[in-house]
Amino acid sequence: MIAEFMQLKLQNLMSDEQCYDQLRELRWPEGRQCPFCDSHRVIRRGFDDQHPSKQRYQCKGCSRRFDDLTGTIFAGSHHPLKIWMLVVYFMGLNLSNTQIAQELDLDKDVVHDMTAKLRAGLLEKKASEAGGHRGVR
Ligand SMILES: [Zn+2]
Repeated sequence: MIAEFMQLKLQNLMSDEQCYDQLRELRWPEGRQCPFCDSHRVIRRGFDDQHPSKQRYQCKGCSRRFDDLTGTIFAGSHHPLKIWMLVVYFMGLNLSNTQIAQELDLDKDVVHDMTAKLRAGLLEKKASEAGGHRGVR
């Protein structure tokens, strides 16, 4: 029994909602901030259609729209935020790319790309040049 039980996957113990909550806390400890103009005058604009835990916003400073991931390396990735969070977590435990790949059932090359991106920093160099949505009115 214990052998089967040890097959449990960490990602099944986490909800997407918890991951997004955690990201918002880490990213915006002082409250939500526009990735384009740094304004704190941000209003919520519902949730993403495909990712119900991803909050959307509109900046009252520059009118642009963004979401929890805009301006981060997670934006536009086809890996769920949960997987990224676990890669970060495992990096913190000093797991090798090979070990992380095994834990998450991912290809080692994929993990290599992810950890390389993470080491270069969580934020895109410039949100405004990284395909952020212009405010649509
Ligand atoms: Zn703004």
